[in-house]
Amino acid sequence: MENTTSSLNFIEKIIEDDLANGRVPNNTIVTRFPPEPNGYLHIGHIKSICLNFGLAQKYGGRCHLRLDDTNPAKEDMEYIDSIKSDIRWLGFDWGKHEYYASDYYDQLYEIAVKLIKEGLAYVDSQTPEQVKENRGTLTEPGKNSPDRDRSIEENLRLFEEMRAGKHPEGKFLLRAKLDMASPNINMRDPALYRIKYADHPRTGKKWCIYPMYDFTHPISDAIEGITHSICTLEFEDHRPAYDWACSIDGIEHAPHQYEFARLNINYLVMSKRKLLQLVQMGIVSGWDDPRMPTVSGIRRRGYSPESMRDFVNRVGVAKVESVVDYSLMEFCVREDLNKRAKRVMAVLDPMRLVIDNYPEDQVEYFEMENNPEDPNAGTRKVPFSKELYIEREDFSIDPPKGYHRLYIGNEVRLKSAYYVTAVSYETDAEGNVSCIHCTYDPQSKGGETPDGRKVKGTSHWVSAKHAVKAEIRLYDKLFAAEDPGKATGNYLDDLNPESLVIREGMLEPGLENSKPGEYLQFIRSGYFTPDYDTTANHPVFNRTVTLKDSWAKQKAKMGI
Ligand code: ATP
Ligand code: MG
Repeated sequence: MENTTSSLNFIEKIIEDDLANGRVPNNTIVTRFPPEPNGYLHIGHIKSICLNFGLAQKYGGRCHLRLDDTNPAKEDMEYIDSIKSDIRWLGFDWGKHEYYASDYYDQLYEIAVKLIKEGLAYVDSQTPEQVKENRGTLTEPGKNSPDRDRSIEENLRLFEEMRAGKHPEGKFLLRAKLDMASPNINMRDPALYRIKYADHPRTGKKWCIYPMYDFTHPISDAIEGITHSICTLEFEDHRPAYDWACSIDGIEHAPHQYEFARLNINYLVMSKRKLLQLVQMGIVSGWDDPRMPTVSGIRRRGYSPESMRDFVNRVGVAKVESVVDYSLMEFCVREDLNKRAKRVMAVLDPMRLVIDNYPEDQVEYFEMENNPEDPNAGTRKVPFSKELYIEREDFSIDPPKGYHRLYIGNEVRLKSAYYVTAVSYETDAEGNVSCIHCTYDPQSKGGETPDGRKVKGTSHWVSAKHAVKAEIRLYDKLFAAEDPGKATGNYLDDLNPESLVIREGMLEPGLENSKPGEYLQFIRSGYFTPDYDTTANHPVFNRTVTLKDSWAKQKAKMGI
């Protein structure tokens, strides 16, 4: 990492300044990543993860994982497990610092009781509608609750009754006594506790009152000794409430909150509510459907953690919202996969090709490079025989001008093997080409001839008798519009009907043994990875991203 101030983002500048001026206890930066376990992590979260864990790494501090589990109705163990495995996959580790807001329920309760005793909190019996109505608006102050002056004794009794399960949901609310006329609505007697009858994934039935975010979050930060509490811009208006909670008498350590712009990407929806809806409506196969912008989805699709870290790094940390281009993300994926993906031959729309003059039972093995970008990647031997598959689009009965692939009378190179010339073709009952007949030049072995003649086209191929049949899932964007829902108000109207196209492909042998997590390039087609649905007799591959790089062109145009 460069060590010039100008290359620091605004949070790094704050941290370096705090460190330089002795404002950080023990000179140890402590950050946290605080997901609410009410869904799977998405690409937006990756930005927050890389920022929080990245800062801790850079400054030799630590980053806590804190599950913000204060809404038991929506939370689930499944989500907690997925969050943990997603963060690990991204390459970060919280060590022993795994915390839950629910770890602090006892402490939070005691603080609430203390606030009541000091006359700083009260039990409000207004209905939720009244609470809302009396909160006021951005331009009008709120109205004091008639319960604001309830006696301390009665507040204590009612709060205890709330806790004991004597009252239904919505009947009472514990609120801080701040200022109903504050210009900041979040400071108008914010709610501290509400009644909720729901089993909690960790505390079970112990509680039927749950602390609110604006109370829980700052106090959890304070308890854990967080030095820099970093969140997205929508929490800016909550900062006074954050600071108030950190100033409660008895709270020793006061962390600070800093806000940055959330990551938005065109063609994607990233709200957990919408993602849950896509899952529940069966529009996708689950949270880890390869079209989902979830961490588990992109991982299944074949994105690498390195590429995503690079992506959020390039996007940077800003204070102003913006929308990042989807193609920048794909560019980062290609950049990384280009370096690491093993090149293999796969025919996605197979057409039979017979070499009439090739010996019937002969099999030759051609040595192929696994990755021209990586000298250490080695080579492998690929079998070649009389009957092959090539891509349907690599042959034309009626070649357009400039077509350099196979047509009757034209000679092309079969990659790393021989030159072949098309001599005839067969058709099926519908008149579609079903087989191409060629002759080969035995002297062109390896792809060159003694006379040095040149051919313009090269086709990849798979030996028919060695081929591995596989299901190929060609994924594209889940939404066809840049801003899903912009035109009609319903993002579901912009679903891309072609976000998944399934093909039966023919692959070079060996690929039946590849496992999810392997990065492959199907030569000329794109980057692919084995899907979890793969079984011994039925390999399934997902297209991660096509080879074409539209971002590079765009970059050139924009002069970056
Ligand atoms: P969503 O709005 O998508 O449902 P959330 O903000 O409710 O997400 P949390 O689980 O509360 O999700 O978020 C955990 C952390 O991740 C928070 O600090 C939040 O600010 C951050 N985060 C969420 N979405 C983004 C995003 N798009 N870009 C950057 N950080 C994000
Ligand atoms: Mg949230």
